[in-house]
Amino acid sequence: MTTKDDKTKNWRPATKLVRGGLDRSHHGEVSEALYMTQAYAYDSAEQAEQSFLGEVEHYVYSRYGNPTVTMFEERLRLLEGSTHCTALASGMAAVFCSLASQLKQGDRLIASTALFGACFHIIANILPNWGIRVEFVEGTDLSAWEKALSTPAQAIFIETPSNPTLAILDIKAISDLAHKAGAKVVVDNVFATPILQRPLELGADIVTYSATKHIDGQGRSLGGAVLSNDASFMDKQLTPFYRNTGPSLSPFNAWILLKGLETLDLRVARQCDNALDIAQFLEGQDAIERVLYPGLKSHPQHELAMAQMNGRGSTVVSFEVKGGKAEAFKTLNALNIMDIANNLGDAKSLVTHPATTTHQRLSDAERETMGIHPNLIRLSVGIEDVQDLKDDLAQALLS
Ligand SMILES: *Cc1c(COP(=O)(O)O)cnc(C)c1O
Repeated sequence: MTTKDDKTKNWRPATKLVRGGLDRSHHGEVSEALYMTQAYAYDSAEQAEQSFLGEVEHYVYSRYGNPTVTMFEERLRLLEGSTHCTALASGMAAVFCSLASQLKQGDRLIASTALFGACFHIIANILPNWGIRVEFVEGTDLSAWEKALSTPAQAIFIETPSNPTLAILDIKAISDLAHKAGAKVVVDNVFATPILQRPLELGADIVTYSATKHIDGQGRSLGGAVLSNDASFMDKQLTPFYRNTGPSLSPFNAWILLKGLETLDLRVARQCDNALDIAQFLEGQDAIERVLYPGLKSHPQHELAMAQMNGRGSTVVSFEVKGGKAEAFKTLNALNIMDIANNLGDAKSLVTHPATTTHQRLSDAERETMGIHPNLIRLSVGIEDVQDLKDDLAQALLS
């Protein structure tokens, strides 16, 4: 939805997160109301007609829009500083709709190789069935982008930091190259969150979120969102696509996500502080082969990460233990506080073995190109006391 920016646009981020988009009913409820309704009654048949003609503003049906969902969209939109935001049922609904709504047979889409598993699947296996020509490039290699974009393309899709290896892609440089080739730039900004990185300010055209991750942050609800300043894309392509295909966000989930946004900045700051502390701690451990964390000086794109992500290294630390799969499993099984779970951005610290779970379906060769080795562990750092987390890791690495 689009709203006129008034006084709220001058609020600082923490205020926007708590109060942005709040639209109280005549009861004056302090906390956002949950409107669990499918449809909306009109005063008259004439009003219904006018509403369908777009002459009066009135909710029609909750696949099209819902007041609780609108409050969530508005709060996230204010934080991102975009003109448009559409909430959807999940992060994958956001990624799929943002690509499928704008691409047609014969179009060219270029994506970076290191992507979230389901994003890779959509681009590698679904879109080509519809005649969309797809190409992958190593995202950190600007000359590879230059080469791929020397012929026209309709869109590019990138994720930074990438999952699970935390490579950092230069959004501004890649966007400049893409625009010269006539391509729209879509950025999956889940790992950075809008607290650390605002891709639209760096030249991207469309941003997608899985709100399931940091935006909820409490591990309860699925959700997603697409944000952009491109009115034509949002109104003429994305909106009719999601309204007719159906992946709308449930008002109940929007109500949960609204509360999640209230504490997003507090949680992400604490998670990043904890993550840096843990990454530094792991770098000094005998049982560790390698630590991948953009906040460490040893990270190959450390300086770019600091400049692009508000001086922070993100909330996820990936690391390789000495040995192989057996040693990685031993470490995971010995953890007492952290849960083995396939999620991230949660207040609880969660660990994942990417090679056998999120990236299991890839071939050994594909995993090797992506740098997903059998000894790699991904740790989504929570907001627990960091000393307890380091103690947990220390005892698990000794086991
Ligand atoms: C989780 C995730 C998604 C998918 O989000 P869902 O809400 O699970 O559909 C997409 N991209 C990235 C980077 C993710 O981490």
